[in-house]
Parts: sequence; structure tokens; C-alpha cells
Amino acid sequence: MISRHFHQRLFLFLYLCLSSRSPSVAAADHLSNPLADPPKWKLLEKYQRTITHDEFERLLRTVYATHGISDELIRIDRDFACILMERDAQAWFTLRFAKEEKRQEPANRNWRTAKSLPRQKRAGVLSGLKIALDPGHIGGEWAKMEERWFKMGDRPPVEEGEMTLRVAKMLAAKLRALGARVSFVRQKNEPVTPFRPDDFKGAAREVLKAGGSENPREDFDGPDDPLKEKTVRWQSEILFYRNSEIRQRARLVNARLQPDLVLCLHFNAEAWGDERNPTFIDKNHLHLLVNGSYLESELAFADERFEMLRRLLSRAFDEELKIAETVAATMAKEMQLPPYQYTTDNVTKVGTSGYVYARNLVATRLYQCPVVYFEPYVMNNSEVFARVQTGDYDGTRPINGVERPSIYREYVDSVVKGLVEYYRGAR
Ligand SMILES: [Zn+2]
Repeated sequence: MISRHFHQRLFLFLYLCLSSRSPSVAAADHLSNPLADPPKWKLLEKYQRTITHDEFERLLRTVYATHGISDELIRIDRDFACILMERDAQAWFTLRFAKEEKRQEPANRNWRTAKSLPRQKRAGVLSGLKIALDPGHIGGEWAKMEERWFKMGDRPPVEEGEMTLRVAKMLAAKLRALGARVSFVRQKNEPVTPFRPDDFKGAAREVLKAGGSENPREDFDGPDDPLKEKTVRWQSEILFYRNSEIRQRARLVNARLQPDLVLCLHFNAEAWGDERNPTFIDKNHLHLLVNGSYLESELAFADERFEMLRRLLSRAFDEELKIAETVAATMAKEMQLPPYQYTTDNVTKVGTSGYVYARNLVATRLYQCPVVYFEPYVMNNSEVFARVQTGDYDGTRPINGVERPSIYREYVDSVVKGLVEYYRGAR
């Protein structure tokens, strides 16, 4: 009886894993980006039999492939899943499921859950916890290129990259006082990558050519040029600050820092138009991001498909969601901000707080440990602008007639409160 069943399964497996490809997705059989690392599928071998069928399905359907996934890419059977490695060769990776949920954690992880941290008497609540702080963007002379800079009249400019570094430095002091071992992914307003935009002109031409632009313009006419995305300069700048920079940060996090948790620090904004005459809006909000919600078009790229599976199998989600939910609650309470509601379809709400979304960002995808990505405050909201202009201070000051702490301390203190609450409860 076993053998008949086995043969049916084997037939289904061969059918599933060897059947022909569809021409519609075959065209997308390449990497997402000229700087992407080709996937190393062998690295997933260590996850054989570490996850049950039901758990794999749950994570795939509710967190990672929430927009659906073609069976040209992943096929799930009762005992195993087949994942497409190379379309042309029709090479598939077979992941065997565990028969039942095992108690032990997946093999060879470089990070620890709150539960697996050593207990230390009398040390702080975060003792031994390795936290890497990732201040979003580069700032400094790169802030305008990154489109993270605006200025009102003769007031000092608002530069997200400098604000996030300031938050990181204040946060580091508080976390260390509680026993955490804190490292920085970026320590100054300089790129972490050794490359500069000019190094990516060739790659930029490749990207434009792939998009149908054979003879692209070299430069664009300022930030309002509607065709700037079709120029070599714009593409090489994007490859520099969004790709090369974040990929270099990922190498640092994964190879050198190896933290238990990365906090990606940002300030949010709504479209402000002209950087020297920004539009101000009434909206102000908060949200936190974890990795997930891959679009089908993203999963068609071999690198993103591999990286999604590596994240799913590392089981970082359950840890990062609990951290994000706890910290979201303390941030919402201290900041008195409503949750941001996305108008795009590239996110999926996860958890129950209403503040946490899954989204496929390069950083949350490539850092190989739990990652929580913070997006509080709308910088071009007039109250937030007033608070940023007031800077850091002790106690409270009147902002539009209401006594408020410094925006930096409110950010830092609410994150610390949430982390303390989580680790006190979970350790
Ligand atoms: Zn940001």
C-alpha cells in the first residue's frame, strides 16, 4: 500500500517538477538587478526537514507570497515543495518537509530569539542581546540625490539621513545602558559602499536597454524632469544609493555584525513636490515594516525567489513580528499617531496591532536575521516640521500650544520602552 501511494507521489513529483514552462514567465528568467547576487540554492540544504508542510504553507500564503505564486515557480506537495532554480534548465530545488513540528530551531542560524538568549542575573533586561542600528539613507552631501532633503525659506533643511543617525546615536546609549551590545550599520553621513554613482554608468545603460531605451539621455534637468528615470545619471544614482549601498550594508550585517536584531530607522513623508517650496499636509502617521508581501513579478526573479525562501526558512518572521507588534504599541501610545493606510497593493497587514505591514524592501530581504523597519512621523506635516526645527531638548516645550517632548526623545524612548517590554516578557 505504501508503495502504490509512493509511486503516485513520485509520479506527481516528476510531473510537477519536470513539466514544461510557460512562455509568459520565461522572459523574466533573470536577476532583479545588475548588482544582485546569483542565488546559492545549496545554502537552503540546511533547512531540509526543519519545517512542516502546514507551517510552510502558512508562512508562504499569509506572509511572503500573499499576492499568490505561480506553480511555474513553486509547487507544494504533502511531503515536499519544488522550487524553480533555473528556468532554462528546468532545474528545481526539492525541500523536504518535517513530519512534525520539531522543538529545536533551524540549524546554523547566526541570531538568537529572545527565548534562547542566556539568562544573566542582575544584568540589564537587554543583556547580551546584539542589536544593529541601521540609520536609513546616507544624508550629508548625498541627501538631495536621495530625495531626502527639503527646505522652507531660510529655515534649516530637513534631512532624513541626518535625523535617523541622530536617533541611532541616542538609541545606542539607552540600549547599552540596558545591557545590549549595539553596533552601527552606518556611523556617519557617508556611504557604506566604496562605490560612487559614476561606477554604475555601464550598469545603468544595461538597465535602460533592458527597459527598451537604446540611446538614453545622459543627464536630466533637475528633480522635476518628468523623464529623469530614462537617463543614465538617474539610473546610476539609484544603483548607487538604493542598491549598492544597501547591499553593502547587508554584507556588513551578515558577515561582520551578525546581530540578533536589526532596527532600520526612518522618518516618513508624503510627497512634498518642490524641495525648496515643499507642500505641507495635515496627515501624520506611523507604521512598521517586516519582510514579506512579495509580488508575483518579484518572485519571477531567481534572486528574490531564493532570498524570500531563505527568509521564510530562517523563521525570522515569528520573532520580528512579535517585536514589531510590541514596539508599535508603545510608539503609537507615546506618539499618539494613527496607523498609516497604504494606497498601493505591494503590502500586507500582518499581526493585530494595525501598525505592522509586510513589504519586500531590499534591506528587510537581505539582512539575515529579524529586522524591524520604522516609519514614524510625516516630515512635511507642519507639526512634525515645527518639532524637527526645535531640535532636541530636555523636558517639554510648547509645539502649536501643546507641551511636547523633543521628537527625537519621543522616538527613542518609545522604541526602548517597546523593546524592554518584549524582552522582559519573552526571555
Ligand atoms: Zn526613509
